[in-house]
Amino acid sequence: MLAQRMTLLSGSGTAAARDAAKVAAATGRQIVDLAAGEVIIAPPRTVREGAIAAIEAGTNRYTDSIGVSPLREAIAEKLTKNTRVAWTAENIAVTNGAKQALLDAAFAILDPGDEVIIFRPCWPTFPSQVLLAGAKPVFVDVKAPDYIPSIESIRAAVTSRTKAIILNSPNNPTGAVYDRATLQAMGDLAIGYKLWIISDECYSNFVFSGKGPESIVTSHPGIRTRTVLVNAFSKELAVTGWRLGYFAAPPEIVSAARKLQSHTTSNANVIAQHAILHHLSVSDGTFEREMHERLAKARQDGLKMLSGLVDVAAPQADGSFFFYLDLSGLLAKLPAGSSVRTGSDISRLLLEEAGVASVAGSTFGDPDGLRLSFGAPPERLIPALEKVVDTLNSLKNRQSAA
Ligand code: PLP
Repeated sequence: MLAQRMTLLSGSGTAAARDAAKVAAATGRQIVDLAAGEVIIAPPRTVREGAIAAIEAGTNRYTDSIGVSPLREAIAEKLTKNTRVAWTAENIAVTNGAKQALLDAAFAILDPGDEVIIFRPCWPTFPSQVLLAGAKPVFVDVKAPDYIPSIESIRAAVTSRTKAIILNSPNNPTGAVYDRATLQAMGDLAIGYKLWIISDECYSNFVFSGKGPESIVTSHPGIRTRTVLVNAFSKELAVTGWRLGYFAAPPEIVSAARKLQSHTTSNANVIAQHAILHHLSVSDGTFEREMHERLAKARQDGLKMLSGLVDVAAPQADGSFFFYLDLSGLLAKLPAGSSVRTGSDISRLLLEEAGVASVAGSTFGDPDGLRLSFGAPPERLIPALEKVVDTLNSLKNRQSAA
């Protein structure tokens, strides 16, 4: 018999993407994967060289559970530059990806019965980790086209049990990038109610709208003593499988993570730590710039293609690398007896008929949504989006004729 808390967990976004790929393989068809939450590209040479050098040097031992000091110092320096707020190694813990940083934050901050405000659609790990910590997710629904919560809607969700707000900008899945005024107001609200902000900024390198990116600690420096800023190298250096993330927070949260990680995973993989340290020491940022250029072009070409959708508005896609479609208008126009009723039905149809894997909005708590990644290889992305447009545009006619 499994522990009861395991029944609280939903599948992860990664699992949803893998499931789609499995179904695809079973049909024996060529499938274009627009479900993956990662850019399909090899990591930079500097990272690979750093890993090889660490292996050749015989690097093998446990490190401090929150990472080697030079890496923590290099991350503090990088964050100081990016957020324009001063950080030192004392503020930094190196983790097994952003996921562990988020779990550390949840365990360090939350007591059983606490409430945590989460904006929905949301990456499913947020509520799952809150539940694992014995606390309760309280959802505030955000809507198309911008998927940004009003401060009134957040205030309305605050109770005497609220302990934290989880913020994710740039956002997975919606692509929203929060504006400075919203971040400042959220910071004021958090200070007023003595709440923590857990700010997941994993997609901070992927902003295309000229809006930012801006960390909440940049918009509102006064909030940093109540903020756990989470980030990772996973997406920005295309090393999702290497498991290297971090958080920046007040030293007491870092100390809590040191204890937690010492009893759970110990340190993040030592070779990955040295690989990233080498990259941070020698890179001139070319890889990150080229990745941004590739994604900016993919986004532009993809948006042009998606502008051909008839009953679905093209998404804003300000940040991250996802097109998030609001299918509610299209679904409402389908005849009452239609077998297609939700984003999940459409995701299945796209897989079976168009050979395109997507992630249904239900993964993120939104039955009307659909997520398509533009991190796929560009030569496969655009033809796949053309099929998505054709399939969605033909749906109304086909369903009424059926
Ligand atoms: N945070 C968000 C919003 C994500 O979308 C993901 C991965 O998809 C993660 C965190 C996990 O990052 P990592 O692979 O570094 O654990």
